[in-house]
Amino acid sequence: MTLPPQSPYVIIGAGIHGLSTAYHLALQLKNTGRGTGEDIVVLEKSGICAGATGIACGVIRNNYFQPAMRELMAHSVNIWESDPETYSYHPVGYMQISCESDA
Ligand SMILES: Cc1cc2nc3c(=O)[nH]c(=O)nc-3n(C[C@H](O)[C@H](O)[C@H](O)COP(=O)(O)OP(=O)(O)OC[C@H]3O[C@@H](n4cnc5c(N)ncnc54)[C@H](O)[C@@H]3O)c2cc1C
Repeated sequence: MTLPPQSPYVIIGAGIHGLSTAYHLALQLKNTGRGTGEDIVVLEKSGICAGATGIACGVIRNNYFQPAMRELMAHSVNIWESDPETYSYHPVGYMQISCESDA
């Protein structure tokens, strides 16, 4: 693949955050008539999902400690639940062993 000499949108890293950012930026550009998203460049030093994204266990939970994380995860859970078939989402539940202070 040849890289363009310049781009107005350069995203570093093709993990879930970089790819999601590219996807939503493309949607935004399209919806506001400001482009197609074809000029978004995602630079990856290794391979697509070569980092943490490629080895994540696939657990979806929203019981995080920090309020901002809880809000983000609750938002994500809503998306998963909105179309379980497409996302291959299986809400089977899970058990977690924690120390008393985390309860
Ligand atoms: C073992 C493990 C299990 C996990 N399990 C879960 C789970 O069950 N549920 C859950 O929600 N989360 C889980 N996580 C957390 C989740 O995987 C991460 O929060 C998420 O994948 C992070 O995504 P990211 O895009 O920020 O980072 P990454 O996926 O690490 O992507 C960063 C990318 O940037 C690239 N990069 C880095 N530096 C450069 C550079 N200078 N130039 C170009 N490219 C660069 C890397 O090669 C990589 O591909 C788990 C994490 C681990 C490690």
